[in-house]
Amino acid sequence: MSDKPRLTVLAGPTAVGKGTVSTFIRDHYPQVWLSVSATTRAPRPGEVDGVHYYFVAAEEFDRMVADGDMLEWAVVHGRNRYGTIRRTVEQAMAEGKSVLLEIDLQGARQVKDSMPEANFVFLAPPSWDEMVRRLVGRGTETPEEQQQRLETAKLELAAESEFNHTVVNDDVRRAAEELVSLMGLVPNPR
Ligand code: 5GP
Repeated sequence: MSDKPRLTVLAGPTAVGKGTVSTFIRDHYPQVWLSVSATTRAPRPGEVDGVHYYFVAAEEFDRMVADGDMLEWAVVHGRNRYGTIRRTVEQAMAEGKSVLLEIDLQGARQVKDSMPEANFVFLAPPSWDEMVRRLVGRGTETPEEQQQRLETAKLELAAESEFNHTVVNDDVRRAAEELVSLMGLVPNPR
């Protein structure tokens, strides 16, 4: 019997680089089953439906919530809805896969309520200044959206104590290696 955690939740403040770490995991760790969320937001250039997200209309998202299809879901940054599709995650867990959810803090709290035995990993920025630099540097949001994200990030930084582990995102490869180790898997050789 393996004692590897079946489900790991990666959450953390806005712009801490959760997406970059999960992209690195998707590209370098096929042994990790990374959940593909549903979202009502529009695809960014280069994003592929079914790979990065399932891009769904608001009505479709409503239907999924009403039907109980979501393991968790949240409105993120006061704008769009994002949710984890219950069936695919439960199936991957039943198959013994190492499942990773990269979601926001509200979603992590919902998973903690329904699956307290899951492994909760907080991705922390090396510093507040670095986090602001990353947020502003991304350049895909308006100044109003950036301000909204910073406000959310301040609240989210305070949530670290709710998690089992903290990984500092000082370097994407290193952070991914630490995360994979916390999932009970072996990091790739350098
Ligand atoms: P983005 O729009 O930049 O891809 O993601 C915005 C935020 O949504 C990120 O903080 C990401 O963690 C969060 N997110 C992505 N998928 C989900 C999900 O299924 N559930 C929740 N609660 N948050 C999600």
